[in-house]
Amino acid sequence: MHLNPYGEYAVLLAASLADDWPDDREGIVDRTREFGMTMEFPTGTDDHARTRDVIDRWLAVVDAREERVRAQLLNALMAKATAYPRLTDHDGEGWHLHYRDDGRSLPDVLLAVMSVGTALHLTTRGMHRLARCEAGLSSGDPCRRVVVDTTRNGRQRYCSVRCANRAAVRRHRARRSGQSVSARA
Ligand SMILES: [Zn+2]
Ligand SMILES: [Zn+2]
Repeated sequence: MHLNPYGEYAVLLAASLADDWPDDREGIVDRTREFGMTMEFPTGTDDHARTRDVIDRWLAVVDAREERVRAQLLNALMAKATAYPRLTDHDGEGWHLHYRDDGRSLPDVLLAVMSVGTALHLTTRGMHRLARCEAGLSSGDPCRRVVVDTTRNGRQRYCSVRCANRAAVRRHRARRSGQSVSARA
């Protein structure tokens, strides 16, 4: 897989798995294909459950609001998952870098790709460009989706137009009720 200079595909793959978790190992592998990975993964025991664990640890990085905590968590993941970088040209992809040893299992490969990709994304685009959808921060709102902010201005707060609209309606109502309170005062 090509980790482009922004680590974008790896982060988008992680977010996709977090938002829409596949039922089985095959679904995980299918998703890696959608995001451009070509390699065959050796089958390990518990690949499905272990990949879920990888996603949960990645979500802890997403949920860390403080930059220093976020960096610490990501460093811990990279320390566990990555090896020295090396050049490879497997599956006719052309020469690119892998940050892991060969022959690793599906969850190990994903942990390496996602942690390095996320580190590249945050350091090149900005440490704040990964978060949960802001609509879900309101109590009672069900959205827990991940926002990978690749926009030019770096101010994407919602996962979708739907969530942005829902939050706007809520702000509008809050303003109106605030106004009626002050009108009565
Ligand atoms: Zn590769
Ligand atoms: Zn949302």
